[in-house]
Amino acid sequence: MNYADTIEKSLPPDLWSLITLLGEVGASQDQRLYLVGGRVRDLLLGIEGGDLDLVVEGDAMALARSLAGEHGGEVVSHPRFGTAKYRRGELTIDLASARTEVYSRPGALPLVRPGSIDKDLSRRDFTINSMAVCLSPPDKGNLLDPFDGRADLEARLIRVLHSKSFIDDATRIMRAIRYEQRLNFKIEDATRGYLLRDLSYLDTVGVDRLRHELQLFLEEGRPEGALLRADELGVLKAMHPSLKADGWTGEMFRKARSAAQVATPEVYLALLLYRISPEDALDLVKGYRYASDQVRIVSDLIKLKTLEKGLGAPGLKPRELYALLHGLAPEALTAFSLACESQRTRDIIVQYLDELRHVKTYLDGHKLKLLGVPQGPGMGRMLKALLDARLDGEVANREAEVALVKRWLAEGGPE
Ligand code: ATP
Repeated sequence: MNYADTIEKSLPPDLWSLITLLGEVGASQDQRLYLVGGRVRDLLLGIEGGDLDLVVEGDAMALARSLAGEHGGEVVSHPRFGTAKYRRGELTIDLASARTEVYSRPGALPLVRPGSIDKDLSRRDFTINSMAVCLSPPDKGNLLDPFDGRADLEARLIRVLHSKSFIDDATRIMRAIRYEQRLNFKIEDATRGYLLRDLSYLDTVGVDRLRHELQLFLEEGRPEGALLRADELGVLKAMHPSLKADGWTGEMFRKARSAAQVATPEVYLALLLYRISPEDALDLVKGYRYASDQVRIVSDLIKLKTLEKGLGAPGLKPRELYALLHGLAPEALTAFSLACESQRTRDIIVQYLDELRHVKTYLDGHKLKLLGVPQGPGMGRMLKALLDARLDGEVANREAEVALVKRWLAEGGPE
């Protein structure tokens, strides 16, 4: 089967023309161009979109320069060795040189050398990701499938290319799970065996790469699929002894999705850590070098748990609720509102998130000054008292605020 038409239909016409041209320029220099990786997999599955990974069997930079020299456009950068970025008008193409990789030790980033397309495909993770379609004449549209990826696509299997694959790069363990769950495939039996055998190699991978893979889980449409499977296979425990996912996790994630706009990776992570002890949760986010924003979400979540009793106090006024919750990360509040057991507390948090946190006074410092309030700490106290009055519904419009301020001025302050 020839895939040129299928690729053409999946791309904007001007991009396809440019790629065709690139393929021809490549052929004239004996540097063939290929579409590789996930895009080929998805094309064969009938899934649209995705990155356009283009590989040239030769020198990407030289080919991009030839294209620019012969047909205009510019080579805008070469972000890494062996890659090039070409731009013409609105269109940009990322081009990589086919390469071969050597792993000096498990988990280390590989040493990279120029190589043939076959070598390039054989350094990849799974058979279904190791196919290429040639984009240069005379083989344009032909599928290159050295590991029988097409058969695995049909059988719906995730299969590594060799038995040491997870040892070379244990992030592939998480990638296998992610593709399995996203595509509704199965990790093939022998691959599953290697995966279980090589779990300890997760330790050889840097924390930044593992955090990134966990993030990719959380960016999936239904992250609980990958998380539950990772738990079942012992991957979460290998990442951190306290990390787990089960039916509760799935229920919370589904709840997050059914509440508009709250199902972000940050909220998912907070939910994942909700049942872990404060010490372990902080150990995990710090150990995995999460950015300070995410660490803050987790510490705010911990704080919320300590506030739980106070939040349930009968007769809590809006101003008191505001004082308790003001400044806490919205993602922590959202996760807490989904996960905490008391319905009353959940409602209170939602009331804060939806209403109270947006409440503003009509008057600001400038307007208070015009009303005769002197600048200084007294003005700050007055603004705070005004906000409290607004929160508790004691004043509902500008006139009422002005009247209140005038009364305070006459009486010598809000206290
Ligand atoms: P997605 O739809 O998740 O973006 P993708 O297949 O495009 O899927 P990328 O992470 O963008 O995934 O990787 C592009 C290609 O590079 C993969 O299809 C695979 O061939 C190869 N690849 C990526 N990561 C690895 C890895 N850790 N080991 C081996 N090959 C990899």
